Amino acid sequence: MSVNNEGFIQIDDLDQHAADTHRPTIAERQRVDYREIAKEVGRLGEGKTYFIRTHGCQMNEHDTEIMSGMLEEMGYTPAREMYDADFILYNTCAVRENAEDKVWGNLGTLKPYKAKNPNLIIGLCGCMAQEEVVRERIRTTHPHVDIVFGTHNVHVLPSLVEQAHHSKLTIFDVWDAAHDGTIENLPKVRKDDVRAWVNIQYGCNKFCTYCIVPFTRGEERSRLPQDVIEEIKQLAAEGYKEITLLGQNVNDYGIDLEGVDFADLLELAAGVDGIERIRFTTSNPWNFTDKLIDTIARHKQIPNFIHLPVQSGSSQVLRRMKRGYTREEYLDLVSRIKTRIPDVALTTDIIVGFPGETEEQFQETVSLLEEVRYEGAFTFVYSPRAGTPATRLPDDVSEEDKKKRLYRLNEVQDGISLEQNQKLVGHVLNVLVECESKNNADVLQARTESNKLVHIEGAKTLIGQMIHVKVTEAKTWYLRGEVLPQGVIV
Ligand code: SAM
Ligand code: SF4
Repeated sequence: MSVNNEGFIQIDDLDQHAADTHRPTIAERQRVDYREIAKEVGRLGEGKTYFIRTHGCQMNEHDTEIMSGMLEEMGYTPAREMYDADFILYNTCAVRENAEDKVWGNLGTLKPYKAKNPNLIIGLCGCMAQEEVVRERIRTTHPHVDIVFGTHNVHVLPSLVEQAHHSKLTIFDVWDAAHDGTIENLPKVRKDDVRAWVNIQYGCNKFCTYCIVPFTRGEERSRLPQDVIEEIKQLAAEGYKEITLLGQNVNDYGIDLEGVDFADLLELAAGVDGIERIRFTTSNPWNFTDKLIDTIARHKQIPNFIHLPVQSGSSQVLRRMKRGYTREEYLDLVSRIKTRIPDVALTTDIIVGFPGETEEQFQETVSLLEEVRYEGAFTFVYSPRAGTPATRLPDDVSEEDKKKRLYRLNEVQDGISLEQNQKLVGHVLNVLVECESKNNADVLQARTESNKLVHIEGAKTLIGQMIHVKVTEAKTWYLRGEVLPQGVIV
C-alpha cells in the first residue's frame, strides 16, 4: 500500500491494500474471555453513577450496552441526568462532520462542571477517538477530558476508569490496530426487553472512498459462529423475541473463518427456539449472494426485509465512491431479490453531493428511487472526512445545491413511502409489540416484518407478543392499526 505526503491511501492501491490485508485463520484466532479480565476489576463504582451519551450507528448503541455492563459490574448505577453523574462518557461517531461537531459542543459545556467537581470523570470513546486530529484537540483545548480510548479496546474501560481516579492528566489508550480476535462473554445492560442486538463481525474491509469506518473500526473480524449462536440461545432463554445481527458488512461474515458464511450463520440463528425474528444490518450489495437470498426466502423467522444501501443511482458516482457495483448490477440484484422474495421490503442509504456529482447524475439517483420503490431511505449530504480518498476529489457541488438535492430527494422518497404504506391499509399484518409509545403511554409501538412502525391501542400485556393487527391508517413514517380479537399468535 502506498501513502502519499498527506497520509492518504492512494485510491488505485485500495484493491492491493485489501489483497495485502492479513486475515487470520481460525487456528490463529485469539479469543479473549472477558470473565478473565473481570477477575481483576474492583468495585470502584460503588455508590457512584454513570451516564453514557451515544452518537451514531447501532454498533455504537450496542457498545454502550456493553460498557454499561462493565460499569455496573464495577458497582456504578445509571444517573438520571448527565450532569448528576460521577462518570460521563461520550461514545462518538466520526461518519459525518455534524456528528463530531455535536460532541465538541457537548464536551465544552462540561468544563464548568469539572471545575465545580474535580472528582467527576469525563471520557471520550468510539470512532472519533481513533482520529489523531481529535486526540490533539483534546490535548490542547479539552484537557478536562480524563480518558480517551478507541473502538479496538472497549474492554479496557474498567482499568482506565481506575487509572483516572489516580491521575490528573488525560489518559490516552487508543490502539491503532485491532488485535486478531474477539472478546467474548462481555457483560451487557440491554436497553430493550423484547429486541436484542448481537455483534457478529467487527470492522470493514471495503474502503468506500468517502468513508472513515475502515480507518476507525479496522479490518473485518468475525466472531466464531458458536459464540454468536450461544449468545442468541441465552437471549431466547431470557425471553427476547427479536435479534438483530450487527456488522458493517454482514454478508462478508466468515471471510476470515473456515467453512462458514453469512447465509450459514443466518440459518443457524433462525433455528434457535423461541426467537421470532432474526434481522441483520448492514448488508452490502457488493457480495449479496443467491445463497443468502434463498436463505432469507426460506425461513419465516428471517423477515422479508433488507436494508440495502445504494449510495447513488449513477454508475460514474458509484465508481468514484468505489462501491464495487454499477447501477445496473444493483438493479439486477434488486430484481433477483424481488423474484425470489416477492413481498420483500427494501430500504437504503443515499449520499447526495458527492464530489463531481452532476445534476444528471443526481437525477439518476431520483430515478433509481422511483424504480426500486424503497419503503424508506436514510439520506445524507456528503461530508468530507479527513484521511479518506474522496477528499482529494474536487468538491465542486455547492453547499446550496447539496441541500437542495437532499430536500428534493427526501420529497420524492416521502411520497413513495406514503404510497407504499397506503397500500397496506385494510391488510392484516403480523407485528411484534415492542413497548409503549414514547409520546403517548396509551399507545403501544409494534413493528411489522418489513420494519414499519405501527401504533396500536391495547393492553400492556401484549408487549413482547407477536399479534395480528389490521392496518387502519397510513402516514409517511408509520401506520396505525387495530388489534384483532384473536390477535395473539401462538
Ligand atoms: N456499512 C454500511 C454500508 O456500506 O452500507 C454503512 C455504514 S455507514 C456508517 C452508514 C451510512 O453513512 C452509509 O451508508 C452512508 O450513506 C453514510 N456515510 C458514510 N460516510 C459518509 C460521508 N462521508 N458523508 C455522508 N454520508 C456518509
Ligand atoms: Fe463505510 Fe463502505 Fe465499509 Fe459501509 S462498506 S462501512 S460505507 S467503507
